[in-house]
Amino acid sequence: MSEIINIEHLKKSFGQNEVLKDIDLMVDKGEVVTIIGSSGSGKSTLLRCINLLEKPNGGKIYYKDENVLAPNYNLPKYRTHLGMVFQQFNLFNNMNVLENCMTGQVTVLKKSREEAKKTALENLKKVGMERFIDAKPSQLSGGQKQRVAIGRALSMDPDVMLFDEPTSALDPEMVGEVLKTMKDLAHTGLTMIIVTHEMAFAKDVSDRVIFMDKGVIAETGTAEDIFVHPKEERTRQFLQRIL
Ligand code: ADP
Ligand code: MG
Repeated sequence: MSEIINIEHLKKSFGQNEVLKDIDLMVDKGEVVTIIGSSGSGKSTLLRCINLLEKPNGGKIYYKDENVLAPNYNLPKYRTHLGMVFQQFNLFNNMNVLENCMTGQVTVLKKSREEAKKTALENLKKVGMERFIDAKPSQLSGGQKQRVAIGRALSMDPDVMLFDEPTSALDPEMVGEVLKTMKDLAHTGLTMIIVTHEMAFAKDVSDRVIFMDKGVIAETGTAEDIFVHPKEERTRQFLQRIL
């Protein structure tokens, strides 16, 4: 495997609040990495630094050996390589499902509408939403909206998908369909970095689990290492609290 994202000594503060302290993280192509940890530990900030929605205060981020923090680095292009799925879906509510999955391809990737439609339909099929192409987001359930959001991100043909608690805003009965969709994707060889509170899911899909605590990576290992044989006391305490 070859590394696709490499983070070294990443630091991020908001004022006096040091939210990320010296984070090192390497993600290989095709790897599924889940990030767990208490609320406020810096998980979202880490994802937002990876796609540079937040500007780090220190450290390095490499994408396939390119220094993405270099002064003249092409950030818009870099961001097209990263798909992001948020807790709150962030669909375009004025557009139907198909248009949601086409618009970025046409405006950002400069694809023809015909090509964009073909790709959108392929990806909507992957997330089981191809029958809803004419629906507006307001006509969909939360689980359906999130599957469209995943299909839209995939339609940009990203190298890495970032998920920030994609099921946290869903009614319990809709969590399963979204996790199933993500599990299917994990098996296609897509590189995925997933912040989640769904521990059974994390156990099931992760090549590697990262436990964050107060701005540091407190422990990292396989699902078995973290969930069955955690080495750190704070990992054990976190798992006891939530399992
Ligand atoms: P998590 O996703 O693990 O719950 P976050 O990364 O959202 O944690 O937040 C970590 C800390 O950073 C929290 O103390 C939060 O208040 C702070 N924080 C996050 N984003 C901002 C921001 N835009 N401005 C100020 N503080 C922020
Ligand atoms: Mg968060």
